[in-house]
Amino acid sequence: MLNKHKVVELLPAKHGHFIGGVYTEPKSGLTYDNIAPAYDINLGEVALGTADDVERAVDAAKAALAGPWGRSTPSQRAAVLKRVAELLAEHRQAFARLEALDSGKPYSEAYEGDIARSAHNFQFFAELTAHQLSPSFLGDDGTLHTTVREPIGIVGLITPWNLPLYLATWKLAPALAQGNAVILKPAELTPLTAMAMGHIFNAAGLPPGVVNIVQGFGAGGAGEALVKHPEVKAISFTGETTTGEAIMRSAAPLLKKLSFELGGKGATVIFADSDLDKAATTAARAAFRNQGQICLAGSRLIVERSVAPRVIEKVLAAVGGIRLGDPLDPMTTMGSLVSRDHRAKVAKFADYAKSSPGVEILCGGNVPSNLSGGAYFEPTVVTGVTQSSRLIQEEVFGPLLTVQIFDDEIEALELVNGTQYGLSCSVFTRDIDRAQRFARGARMGLVWINTWFSRDLHTAFGGMKRSGIGREGGQYSLDFFSELKTVSMAMG
Ligand code: NAD
Repeated sequence: MLNKHKVVELLPAKHGHFIGGVYTEPKSGLTYDNIAPAYDINLGEVALGTADDVERAVDAAKAALAGPWGRSTPSQRAAVLKRVAELLAEHRQAFARLEALDSGKPYSEAYEGDIARSAHNFQFFAELTAHQLSPSFLGDDGTLHTTVREPIGIVGLITPWNLPLYLATWKLAPALAQGNAVILKPAELTPLTAMAMGHIFNAAGLPPGVVNIVQGFGAGGAGEALVKHPEVKAISFTGETTTGEAIMRSAAPLLKKLSFELGGKGATVIFADSDLDKAATTAARAAFRNQGQICLAGSRLIVERSVAPRVIEKVLAAVGGIRLGDPLDPMTTMGSLVSRDHRAKVAKFADYAKSSPGVEILCGGNVPSNLSGGAYFEPTVVTGVTQSSRLIQEEVFGPLLTVQIFDDEIEALELVNGTQYGLSCSVFTRDIDRAQRFARGARMGLVWINTWFSRDLHTAFGGMKRSGIGREGGQYSLDFFSELKTVSMAMG
């Protein structure tokens, strides 16, 4: 097992911004403490970014675009991105340790999931960008029309804390593939892996200023300054729905191009004819992976009445097998929540459940008594919840699973669609007609049939309703991070 103190000793005491290819102090000199949520220890002082730091990042990005990067070809960019992927894969252990310390998630999950997938993001977009074609069309009058792609220029990326490096690289890779210069503002709670990426970018030969990382807070801080900067032409944001609203308001006077991946309230629907063992274990995984802090989490279990007792029993058995504890212990399958503040928010929902008439706590609902430090919370399953309850309508973003029971397909679909969110759901059934019908009826950007969290990077990723605007993934990401220009040439 890794020694947390040893890992922390290896970290620098201060985490600056990464601007113009060098690590740099904040202009204001201000910093904030970065607490490891599982251990309550300070991982170092982090630069508290302000508008001045964003200004420096914009200057560095402008200089980079005026240099060789601004004239780079897709295959040159692909070569650099592939090198980034290789270096990240080589340093996978170190990055997984940083992610586990910073976010509280199990090291094994960060190693197998977050970091491996982050490296893959660069590899994937390196390959995709090198194969983009420009459509051309010969008009009736002989004019040759060609539509070409150009970089937008300077783009801003704002990311959340739940999958810190994975979601940052999901934006960085396509933005760079299309030749933009980037300013990344990572979540204030999890700055470390983004910060460490500066070393990787330099080692991969990315010119200085192509990627700039400004640490700090959102509202009133570096995030808002980035959105309000007139030379940052597009913002790709992943985070809470209400933050999306604030960003849209800030960006409106500048008419910025925006991509929003926002909150979710995913559901797992289990019909009586499904493989109940598989459905129940998947439902538990969908609810509790990453401590329930995934936008795609199946935080609502919706199960057909005739099999409800059996499914609930199987889900509770799966929950009983969860090993809650030290993220650096290889046996741990569930770590700490991201902060004590966030745990307090989750605990409030659990208290609300306890005080709601008719609601029954089937397991969990408390801070675990055997883990005195850290921001741990027990995996919690509740039943007897009405559709109008806050537990169904609001995003808890923690280890709290609600169980609802349905009698027919129409009712199941109404429950699934009956929230403000529209990001994802899973449906378990052996009836393929019903599965397809259900998928069509669900107002969700992603629907899984007999599975959960299955992602192919080519496909569209994003939400309907208040879960987002636009789509990421494959060509959709490349489209967002580029401008289209049509050039028409008269022929002879
Ligand atoms: P958050 O909205 O609080 O913060 C996200 C980022 O936005 C942070 O970097 C923050 O500093 C910044 N920010 C906050 N206010 C800002 C402002 N006014 N202007 C500019 N930047 C601002 O979200 P969070 O708590 O970090 O993450 C959890 C949320 O993210 C959940 O709602 C979850 O569903 C959502 N999420 C969505 C997806 C998706 O793909 N749809 C993926 C992961 C997380």
